[in-house]
This record gives sequence, C-alpha cells and structure tokens, in this order.
Amino acid sequence: MKSELTWVEVSRAALKKNIQIFRKSVGKNVIIAPSVKANAYGHGLIETTKTILQAGADWVCVNALFEAGALRNAGVRAPIYIKGYVPHKDLPEAVDRDTDLVVYNKESIQALGRYTNKAKKNARVHIKIETGNNRQGVLLDTLKDFVQTIQKYPYIEITGAATHFADIEDSPDQKYANYQLENFQKGIEILKACGVEPPYLHCANSAATLLYPNTHFTMVRPGIATYGLWPSELIARRVQKKFGIQLTPALSWKTRIAQIKDIPAGSYVGYGCTYKTKRRTRLAILPVGYYDGYDRGLSNKSWAIIRDKKAPVRGRVCMNITMVDVSNIPEARLEDEVILLGRDGKAGMSIDEMAALADTINYEIPTRIRESIPRVIV
Ligand SMILES: *Cc1c(COP(=O)(O)O)cnc(C)c1O
Repeated sequence: MKSELTWVEVSRAALKKNIQIFRKSVGKNVIIAPSVKANAYGHGLIETTKTILQAGADWVCVNALFEAGALRNAGVRAPIYIKGYVPHKDLPEAVDRDTDLVVYNKESIQALGRYTNKAKKNARVHIKIETGNNRQGVLLDTLKDFVQTIQKYPYIEITGAATHFADIEDSPDQKYANYQLENFQKGIEILKACGVEPPYLHCANSAATLLYPNTHFTMVRPGIATYGLWPSELIARRVQKKFGIQLTPALSWKTRIAQIKDIPAGSYVGYGCTYKTKRRTRLAILPVGYYDGYDRGLSNKSWAIIRDKKAPVRGRVCMNITMVDVSNIPEARLEDEVILLGRDGKAGMSIDEMAALADTINYEIPTRIRESIPRVIV
C-alpha cells in the first residue's frame, strides 16, 4: 500500500466471527443473506463478499443490478438477491445474471414476463409486501391481484416473500415491528390462498436477526452487524445482556503523514481561521479530506491515531487535506502510518465515535469512504 495516500483494511477474522454469530443466532437451517450493498457498507464489495461467503454466509443481498453484475464477473456463484429497483430495460440482464429479484410493480412483472416468454428462461421473484414501512412494497389489499398477474407468466416463479422493518432499532418495545410482522403473516396467508408457498420468507435485518427469533422465517438479511457494528446502542445493550454477544468491527482506515512542521503560538490553522494555536504547535498534514469521506463535520472535533496516540484535528477538514496536532507525539515522522478509523493498542477511533462527532449514524461513516480508495483484506 506504499504508493496509496489512503487505504482501508478489512479484517477477515472479524467478518468470519460475525457470520458465526449469525449462524448461532439463527440455527443451521435458516439462510444467511448478508447485505453487501453500498460497497459492502464501505468494506469493498468483491473481496468482502467472497470472504463472508467463505465464512458461511449462504446468499448475499445487493441493492442494484450493477452490484450483482460485478459479483458475477468476479466469479461469485452464490445466490444474489437484488432488493432495490431494476429498470424495465435491465430485467433481461437480471435474469441472465441468475439473480433473485424483489418485485412490487405490475409493470415490472409485465416487462419481465415478456422477456421470459420470449427467451423461455425462468425468473425468480420475491414479492415485497408492504407491512408498514411505506417504502417499496405491495399493499395487502392489492396483493392477490398482484400474485394473479405474476401467475399469468409461466416462466416467472414466486420463490420468496419479504418485508422490511421501519422501527426495530430505535424503539424500546417491539410494538410496531409486531404490527408489521402480523401484516407479513397476513400477506403470507394471501399468497397461500393463491396457491403460492414460497420457500424464502424473509424480513430480518441485523437487529431482528440478533434479537428476535420470531422474525427469522427461512432467511435473514443482516447488514451492519456483518461488519461488526450495531444497528443502534439500544440493540447493542439488549443483545449483549440477553445473549452475551460481542460483534467485532472489521474496518480500519489509514493514511500517512504528508508533512510535519512547527508553527508559532497564535497561528491560525486552515480555511476560515477556525483554530488558533495556544502554544507552539507541531502539526501533521494528512492527505485525506471530505472528498475521501472524512466528514467536514469532524473539523476541530475528531482525532487521528499516530504511534498509538491521539492527534486532534485542528481547523476545518479540507477537500483533500486534514491537519492534526502532534505536539504530544514528538516521535511522529513523515510518512508514518496514521489511523483515521480503527485501533492501535490503547488509542482508537471507532465508527460509532466518529458518527457521534459528525452528528450522524454509524451506517453513514463507512459507506461514505470514497469507493475508489483501495480495500485490502488482512
Ligand atoms: C439495508 C437493508 C437490510 C440490512 O439492514 P441493517 O440494519 O444494516 O441490518 C435489510 N433489508 C433491507 C431491505 C435493507 O435495505
């Protein structure tokens, strides 16, 4: 990685541990289909997917066809569920790529059916049932009609039914999730009345996978927990208390020092002169900025780790550059390795800490790390 200004390291051992935790939670018969959308939550789509499949995941979930295509091109043979929208013109490719598709529009069924009839190829679809998230999905009162539309096309097979929780991470009771679960059951009954009993029934995200066995059905779709992060503090506390489970974060984000210099007391640092040195200050210049995903909201707030010590960010985070204070790290040297996220001995910066400092959720931190930054499995 010597020639890179910045790179991300992903721990194979951590990913493996987290998948093993899912296996313990769901038992051996439930399909584990981790979410690898958003560049595997910033961990790197291809290598992370290969690693979690080796570690015992059965399927993967992506958001879009381009992700499924990239995985197939990289030789991934495992089932891939596309849980976002596929435009009509791309439906043939989705079939040819051997994916499982979420469906909720009649127009998509018609476009898919025209292709499968003509090509005499089978398509596998999972019906997204609207249970209360009011995102993608078919309302219960139109579900029968939707199923009957699909049944007009002999090559389209309904292999799954799915839904997604709106309020399972943040709510201290499971009330809304239970309401959605009841609606999901109703949807499954409607399918049954139409003669459809799909083998793949799924609704569990990370929170549900780890905490609520009654949401597992035949398949689970954990996302953030795959990477060793909790969907919320509430879920972390409950799962730790009830099951003693500890997740292991997989990601470290690193860079190198680009310059070191001593500046006098009373100097301003960076755009807007938002930081004034109180004493003679040793600054390290880091070749990383908000373009790379180092949030501008971290200006004057976060810190990097250099030689196992904290180096606070001084002034505003720039587009490609960030300044940190190494006055207390006299041993710091040009091109020293710097940890932006992760831990080295005692000092560290977790994704959760950074999210709090940037006033956002942990999901946003790794998914915003610029996609073209190299990801290395270690
Ligand atoms: C992102 C996503 C998940 C995973 O959610 P986490 O909270 O990261 O576990 C599961 N299902 C759907 C439909 C999603 O979009």
